[in-house]
Amino acid sequence: CGIAGCISKKRRVAPILLDSVRKLEYRGYDSVGIATVEENRYNNNKEYNIGLKKAKGQISKVVDKEWEKFDGNVGITHVRWATHGIPSNENSHPHTDCHNKVAIVHNGIINNFKELKNKLIDEGHEFKSETDSEVITHIIESYMEKGMNLESALVETVGHLDGTYAIGAISTNNPDEIVAVGRKSPLVIGIGDGENYLASDVPAFLKHTKKIMYPAYDEIVILTADNVVVKDLNGNVIEKEIIETNWNE
Ligand code: GLU
Repeated sequence: CGIAGCISKKRRVAPILLDSVRKLEYRGYDSVGIATVEENRYNNNKEYNIGLKKAKGQISKVVDKEWEKFDGNVGITHVRWATHGIPSNENSHPHTDCHNKVAIVHNGIINNFKELKNKLIDEGHEFKSETDSEVITHIIESYMEKGMNLESALVETVGHLDGTYAIGAISTNNPDEIVAVGRKSPLVIGIGDGENYLASDVPAFLKHTKKIMYPAYDEIVILTADNVVVKDLNGNVIEKEIIETNWNE
């Protein structure tokens, strides 16, 4: 029922993300989760992992100090209001692909998820949840396995989806960005200083910036720590108006 994301060159994002989901609590929820791109410090070859924590329950009950300690300067978070699949740890978002290289959060409903899921299972994908949302992460995975980057894979994925969505996606293959897209589910982008944000609603990042931008349906948003680029599904860059919000914290 609410998504948020943050990419920063200044600090770990876990505390920022957990603050954001607390601000989105009013939207109603049954589960909470967070995923970051973590650098594997024990390996000299700069390897990355997806760090993931998610659980059914109230934020005040399930989120403890361990969640705040999460490493990584790139991350996404979710508070779920279950539509497909009961509230459970497995059905909570973020959802990862088979190889833990992609993680997504989704707000909305994918109407055609059953046919997509059956096709993906036929192709060998193993599902961990009963949600409609999990198909998104596996479709992205299948395009990335063909050699695409996260951005192109999300563009292709959108072409398969029928429904409503605000999606935030991260990948260990593209560890310096978050890619997002929305259709009929709320999505707003926050422009910060060496730090950028996405969320279902402005209060999630209002503490950090008042500069906001609203992507139109199916515009692909690529967030890096220093920049936000918006493109249409054909890859054309779109100049967006940045608005100074008069909301107060
Ligand atoms: N349809 C998805 C699910 O049931 C997302 C629900 C939401 O927007 O919180 O997991």
